[in-house]
Parts: sequence; C-alpha cells; structure tokens
Amino acid sequence: MTVHHTAVVMGSNTGAPRRVRSYQNYHQGRGWPDVAYHYLIDANGNIYEGRPVFARGDTFTEYDPTGHFLVCCDGHFDQQGIPTAQLGSLANVLAWASLRFGAGPSTIAGHRDYAATTCPGFHLANLLADRTLQSMVEQRMAAGGVSLGMLCGQAGLDRIAEIEAGRL
Ligand SMILES: [Zn+2]
Repeated sequence: MTVHHTAVVMGSNTGAPRRVRSYQNYHQGRGWPDVAYHYLIDANGNIYEGRPVFARGDTFTEYDPTGHFLVCCDGHFDQQGIPTAQLGSLANVLAWASLRFGAGPSTIAGHRDYAATTCPGFHLANLLADRTLQSMVEQRMAAGGVSLGMLCGQAGLDRIAEIEAGRL
C-alpha cells in the first residue's frame, strides 16, 4: 500500500471535487485509463474512488506499481501539515484495504520509498517513519475494521454538491 500526495498546496476544500476531476483529466490525457490512484482523500477527509482496485496504478516516476494499492492525499506535505480529518480517513482507507486485501500495515510505505521523489511530502512521510500512521491503522483493525460506504449515481452527485458548498 503506497501513500502519495498531490504536491499541490490545498486551496479551499470546496474545490476538491474539481481538483480530483482535473487529475483524472490530466492523467487520461497522458493516455492512462483513469486517474493514477485507487483512492484520493481531500482535506476534510472525504474519500474519492479513483481507478478500480483491480487495475494497476500509474506513476510519473520510475517504479513498478503492479500489485500496489495507491492512495493519494490532496495537499503538498512538504509545505503543510496534514489535517486531522484527512489523516483519519487515510488510516480508515488503509485499514479497510488491509482487511479486504490481506495486505497488512507492514506494507504501508511512501512513494519516496520506491522512487526518486519527495512524495508524499515531509510531514506525511514523517508520520510513516515514526509509525504513527501504521499504529492508527492497527488500532482500527483491532477494533473490528472499517466499513466504507459507497455512493453512486445521484447519491454521489448529492455528496459532491455538499462538498462543493462547503458543508462537508
Ligand atoms: Zn506519489
């Protein structure tokens, strides 16, 4: 399981859905089938489904993401700390994936552990290096795991409208 950041300093979170779509457009413009990551998380902890988990992710750098579960947090964590809600949702996604795919917290790493990049940024990488994130994931797994609800169709569009209105 590999943790990434968008390397773009967050503006208002009301723009998060637009940013997620822009990454998808940008990545598809490179000829990739979808946004590079399986899940993306905004500053308020909203979780966006990206590329289907059965499909290999993609990278601008030199490493092979085959078999990796790629999660990307919106923000530039060389330049800013990660918000509590965003970190909590990151731990939720990783705990969910650990149980669903049998990967385990020991497989959590930063992009920079595989390639020449600072991704996922200094502040988030530190939370991996000191095992803060792994401990959060282990606590969630020990407590019985995490279930993620999935919103599709109008329910998904309604949720996006709430995020864009600044209510979530
Ligand atoms: Zn990355």
